[in-house]
Amino acid sequence: MSRMDQSLFNEICLQQLRLSGVHEGETVAVLTTGDERADYASAFMWAAQKLGASTFHLRLPSPVEVSAVWRVGETGLAGNRVAVEALKAADMVVDCTFLLFSEEQFEIQGAGTRILTAVEPPELLARLMPTRELRERVEVAADRLAKAATMRITSPHGTDVTYRLGVYPTVSEYGYTDQPGRWDHWPAAFVFTGGADDGVDGTIVLAPGDVLLPFNTYVQHPVKLTIEAGFIRDIRGLPGHSSLDADLLTSYIESFDDPRGYGMSHVGWGLDERAHWHGLTQFVGGMGMELRSFYGNVMFSIGPNNELGGPNDTACHFDIPMRGCSLYLDDELIVDAGELTVPEMRPATQR
Ligand code: FE
Repeated sequence: MSRMDQSLFNEICLQQLRLSGVHEGETVAVLTTGDERADYASAFMWAAQKLGASTFHLRLPSPVEVSAVWRVGETGLAGNRVAVEALKAADMVVDCTFLLFSEEQFEIQGAGTRILTAVEPPELLARLMPTRELRERVEVAADRLAKAATMRITSPHGTDVTYRLGVYPTVSEYGYTDQPGRWDHWPAAFVFTGGADDGVDGTIVLAPGDVLLPFNTYVQHPVKLTIEAGFIRDIRGLPGHSSLDADLLTSYIESFDDPRGYGMSHVGWGLDERAHWHGLTQFVGGMGMELRSFYGNVMFSIGPNNELGGPNDTACHFDIPMRGCSLYLDDELIVDAGELTVPEMRPATQR
């Protein structure tokens, strides 16, 4: 149970479903696993009914085998045909389990069902409530990204990496979803795409304060990643510094025993000025959505790109939001040392 009062939780879920366009005649399904997030199911079902929609709660059993590791794409829906069909028949699924990267999520979206993931602590859901204004800014960013042929990221710490774009779609996340078949995650405010499978080359230097998800930690000691043709070829600390973070990163990836864990995955930037870089100090047990969203972060990721339609479906996945980077689309500066340059991407008060 969260610390949030259930009636307040009900109200924020009502705001969410209103933004997501839930209306009379629709059916909203809520998906949970085991004993997790029963209060979320209650709040979303209350909100759906308030809007005149039908609703039901589909509760999957807890996994028999407990994995302490974050293995993406493995859900309790695999092999559970009746459950998948029930979700496909709904207009909207509120996913309180994290289905992302799974075959089942793609199948449900393919049936025209929109999906909203909601797994973060209620206090964070409330503080980063999506807005239409933020959605517009995210969509401006997505338009720019979708038109670009290359992305280059640099930093004062020595990052200089180039992604060849144009192969994979651009994805926007703004925290709600009102279009058939579209997925989003509450809270969120960022855009991303992926480089061509063999089209990422250069160096990334992680600096202290950059964020390692799912470690849910801040980098303490710089890490140098050497990337060639879409894969990380070398991970090491910098001379004169501890290699602790480099060693942890390598040890984790190696534990999956899958060379595709070294693949370069999605890349983009965050836009929410309400999201705090220091957010992990508040919600250590969450998914890190606040860190993916904070204003001006440049986030790259390692591992699967099947979410974008690519061939890599490894279960090993990192998202790494970085501070103070510059990002160019076709040589045009879009993020300038952590500051967005395009007025339409900035908060209305800062244009
Ligand atoms: Fe990711």
